[in-house]
Amino acid sequence: MCGIIGVENNENAAVLVSAGLLNLQHRGEESAGITISGKEKMKTFKTMGLVSTLFNEDILINKLPGTAAIGHVRYTTSSKSSLLNAQPFQISCIHGNLAVVHNGNITNFHQLRKELLKKGSIFNHTSDTEILLHYIAMSKGNLSSIVANSLKKLEGAFSIIILKDKTLIGVRDKNGYRPLVLGKIGNSYIIASESCAIEALSGKYVRDIAPGEIIIIENGQIRKSFFYGKSKKQNTCIFEQVYFSRPDSVMFSKTVRKARLKMGEYLAEQMRGIKADIVMPVPNSGYFAALGFSRYSNIIFENGFIRNYYVGRSFIKPSQSLRDLTVKLKLLPIKEVVSGKEIIVIDDSIVRGTTSKRLIDVLKRTGAKKIHFAFSCPPIISPCYYGIDTPSKEHLIAANNSTERIKKYLGVDSLTFLRLDNLIKACAPESRKENLFCCSCFNGKYPTKVPKKIYKEIV
Ligand code: SF4
Repeated sequence: MCGIIGVENNENAAVLVSAGLLNLQHRGEESAGITISGKEKMKTFKTMGLVSTLFNEDILINKLPGTAAIGHVRYTTSSKSSLLNAQPFQISCIHGNLAVVHNGNITNFHQLRKELLKKGSIFNHTSDTEILLHYIAMSKGNLSSIVANSLKKLEGAFSIIILKDKTLIGVRDKNGYRPLVLGKIGNSYIIASESCAIEALSGKYVRDIAPGEIIIIENGQIRKSFFYGKSKKQNTCIFEQVYFSRPDSVMFSKTVRKARLKMGEYLAEQMRGIKADIVMPVPNSGYFAALGFSRYSNIIFENGFIRNYYVGRSFIKPSQSLRDLTVKLKLLPIKEVVSGKEIIVIDDSIVRGTTSKRLIDVLKRTGAKKIHFAFSCPPIISPCYYGIDTPSKEHLIAANNSTERIKKYLGVDSLTFLRLDNLIKACAPESRKENLFCCSCFNGKYPTKVPKKIYKEIV
């Protein structure tokens, strides 16, 4: 998972992109970067860590003059977490200077890389994104045909923004796995992973970029919009609405907040009959589901955890040891809220189970009388190949254990997962009834051919 943003036709392009990245920080904390062009020669700045590490007054005002910019925040799924693999990737080729930012996972990357190596290509990074740049550099024709022909070779998940001089190109893979939206601010267009980044800049969300669409924007005008391919069915990642996207972002014409409230309502319906004194969320992604649960069930909503906001999100840390440390420092129960109470705790999902186990242990030590644990999605039983770092099957607790066994391991009084049909209903657009979502990690049915194993790093 990563966050991407691009702005064109704006004297403040660098400032807007950096502010937009701050509002996409929840999508990745490992590295941040920006490329700017339009006035001087194209320039790229990158850093490991948070967006705030990269941008200071000197960089934004003195070093980044230009009218078009793209930016990226990274969370590693398919290659090493390093400055070398931080994006944007900028190249100089026969078509001039180009930069690219990518959110997703190119599933046929290893096969394409082998083919390109045989033809003499040289790779500078270990990231799948570099593949696209190779194809662009080798293609002939006008800009739209170069991009379309290059994309046709790629399989998997990719929302991409390309910057070429003053031109911004937005691309979404034909399954539409990862979100990508179009917005406007004055006479400039913005493309971003989520609408929250556009609205934070006082811009206006215009629409989603459609699966398979390529949109070319220049001088405040949409120069061209067309499709490089179409899939039989849209397969947008349903986990975006469960966990990754920010609650104020719009997906399928409604906010993620509304979808999460609905998840909570459906959970409450599934758990009718369970009595409790309070319902409380695991912050932050369990918040709106717990609120929806409370409204539906009339069980009092309480914030039972204090979250330390100076510690990053546990799921998106690159290693287990860092994840464990993060969890320990991040959430502390409030004794007067939980002690002596029968509580319903709502979290978004269970992956390895270690975070949930620790939370339950700490709630018990704080004096909770009974704990009913509920998740606002079904058990994750299969890995994700489309840009989310769910581990391989052997590390997924729900792939190897029944609900009853997980309940025993966690030591809770009841354990409930939101049913998949209820999750789909909660996330679906009001106007359309068909299933527009990828649900592969919950049902093991993948919309595309997937690699035999999850590649973490190229050696
Ligand atoms: S497999 Fe799961 S996490 Fe991955 S894209 Fe599909 S729904 Fe999202």
